[in-house]
Amino acid sequence: MNSNELIKIGSNFLKKNNIKSYMIDAEVLLSSISGKSRENLLISDFKVNPIQIKSFNNMILKRAKSKEPIAYLLKKKEFWSNKLNVSSDVLIPRPETEILVENLIKYYNGKNPFILDIGTGSGCIIISILQELKKSTGIAIDISEKALKIAKKNSKLNGTFNRIKFVNFSICKFNTFKFDLIVSNPPYISRSELKNLDEGIKFFEPKIALDGGNDGLDVMRKVIYKSRKILKINGMLALEIGNGQYKKVSQILKLNKFREKILIKDYKDNIRCIFSTLNHY
Ligand code: GLN
Repeated sequence: MNSNELIKIGSNFLKKNNIKSYMIDAEVLLSSISGKSRENLLISDFKVNPIQIKSFNNMILKRAKSKEPIAYLLKKKEFWSNKLNVSSDVLIPRPETEILVENLIKYYNGKNPFILDIGTGSGCIIISILQELKKSTGIAIDISEKALKIAKKNSKLNGTFNRIKFVNFSICKFNTFKFDLIVSNPPYISRSELKNLDEGIKFFEPKIALDGGNDGLDVMRKVIYKSRKILKINGMLALEIGNGQYKKVSQILKLNKFREKILIKDYKDNIRCIFSTLNHY
């Protein structure tokens, strides 16, 4: 059977089983199984061997029945052109987070900030930034030891391991250094939203990486409060926030003497990232 037909059959099956990302899922799956890039899949129609067809069908079936996200089934996720390891101990890196990374790399082009990544998860943020800013170093902290294990593995694979220190710590107890840049994509889903998430997220992604408490901002508040104390003068705090959280986060920033510098919108026109600095009078 040829690749195009296989994708059509696989994606139709997923669609019938209410998987919203049916097309991209089928493509990512076949791309991984065949070893060809997704771009390659789109422009060519190649023969897929029976063993590959079998494993494609198995995974499609699993995805349709259990709703387990493709990234967990493959144990991999592409982020900023890196193939990162993922497991259900870490959040699957999102394209929205690539927007955060892209803008930080642009902002710090040619510089070498000392970075703290709070709640590093798979390590996607700090690894991608350090890959581009070759002279930068940083610290990645997470309260999940299992997540840190994966982040370490990813940084080794991507050649940044010797420039990142991984620490199993809660942000509340972290007081050691001062940073040029603090970046965080904290858990920011509110309790009520948590219940309504897609099954793939709700049943498979780590709750600890999603749950932001009652209004979704419990961890955000801690991150902002702590950042005020451990940022260098002129240092910057770069946050990823949830849909519709801008006003509230903006208030918390102001209360903690932060001045907003750059706002970045995502693909759906929501304010997704806030870069801010401390007010010094
Ligand atoms: N920093 C990781 C990411 O952006 C993990 C974020 C989290 O667990 N909330 O994907």
